Amino acid sequence: MEIAKKITILFAILSAVIIGLLSGFVWYFSNEFAFEDFYKRLETRVNITAQTQLFENANNEAYAELRNQYLERLPSERSFILQADQISAGSNKLKLPQSFYNKIKTGKTARYRQQNQFYAGRYFKNKDHAYAVIVTAKDPFGFRELKDLQKILIIGFFLSLILSFVVGWRFSNYMLSPLRNIIRSVKKIKAENLHIRLDVKQGSDEMSQLAETFNNMLNRLETAFETQNNFISNASHELRTPLTIISGEVELAMKTGQDPEKQQQTLNKIKEETERLEHIITSLLGLAQSGFNGKNQPWEEVRMDELLWDIRSTVNQVYPNCRIEIDFSNLPEDEELLTLKVNKNLIRLAISNVVSNACKYSDQRTVVIRIEHTRKMLSIAVVDQGIGIPENDVQHIFEPFYRASNTNDYKGYGVGLPLTLNIVRMHRGSIAIKSKEGSGTEIKILLPAF
Ligand code: ADP
Repeated sequence: MEIAKKITILFAILSAVIIGLLSGFVWYFSNEFAFEDFYKRLETRVNITAQTQLFENANNEAYAELRNQYLERLPSERSFILQADQISAGSNKLKLPQSFYNKIKTGKTARYRQQNQFYAGRYFKNKDHAYAVIVTAKDPFGFRELKDLQKILIIGFFLSLILSFVVGWRFSNYMLSPLRNIIRSVKKIKAENLHIRLDVKQGSDEMSQLAETFNNMLNRLETAFETQNNFISNASHELRTPLTIISGEVELAMKTGQDPEKQQQTLNKIKEETERLEHIITSLLGLAQSGFNGKNQPWEEVRMDELLWDIRSTVNQVYPNCRIEIDFSNLPEDEELLTLKVNKNLIRLAISNVVSNACKYSDQRTVVIRIEHTRKMLSIAVVDQGIGIPENDVQHIFEPFYRASNTNDYKGYGVGLPLTLNIVRMHRGSIAIKSKEGSGTEIKILLPAF
């Protein structure tokens, strides 16, 4: 069922329950009190009738006069005096329930109503016999008022039910119309037109937030789509190049025959390209692996300062002339803060990539690794004094196979940093970069430390 219908029905049910309860309440108490006054008047007449008819008294005449002068006759007023043996149902001509007589017999004033016919009765005893005096009359006003009230309450109930239905329907449609617009717009978005965005209305209500969230998601989707498209074309290009070279070299060797020197050259070239192919495939594999959520890979507690020493010696094996200084001056006193729960191999690979780049692109000048603990994050900054990254290239260097324009003299494949970024994100961390072409680069890896 649509939400609008649900809201309308709920709204109507709620109104029906509230109005029904209120009407019932009003009806009950009106019913209780509307006739109280009339019963009192009947009871006065019961007493006066008993006084004048049953008791011989000097005041009787005065009572009768008082009654005739001041107590007006009620519509259809009649009074009955029942002998003791008539005080039960069926033993007299009045059609009253037995409970009425029972109450009279207990000495209390009994009341009874049949539609608009009211009865009041009481038990009296003069010196000879016991009697029941019953007075009956019609109440022309109270009963009509109660009937009118009943009609008003029933009509009011149904009118307010219809009103709450209409108001609920309009209200829910009004509230849900932005949601319908969002659904309509989102339905139009396909893989081919991922650039379409939803209209975000001014304001901070949930609907605007929903539209904004959708737009943000579309931004991410579009970027992911583009990255994936670029990645596939770049990867195929990068893999095909060495293969083309290898097959070209093999063809050449087959033509040139047995010349050993040429053969050696060809084999060297083939070896070089095979190594390149292997390097690319290994990196791609790492990239694909780091794209998983890491749940299947081992996570362990690692002292990051110790890991940095380890990385330093590994990088020094490849770049022996590169001076790598580790700056521990800002280390926290609590050594516990240096221990992070990480995937050791992947995080080593990520940091090594950054440190190797620093050595490579600074022609093995001094590289400083600064480790700090700031606001629940462990920051590892790798600072070099190398060629830097041109301003236009900075935003692209995390894209697979992208290499800055000033790296022609340096060997590389453009897969190290995307891999590093994937690994760091897998550890819920982030990477910041600061670089100036010609003077150096600082790449900071931030990892959550708790
Ligand atoms: P590569 O194999 O080309 O080094 P990376 O993915 O590691 O691939 O780096 C991507 C690009 O980022 C590099 O080609 C280079 O242009 C730039 N880069 C990365 N680190 C540095 C650095 N420390 N100094 C200058 N440029 C850098």
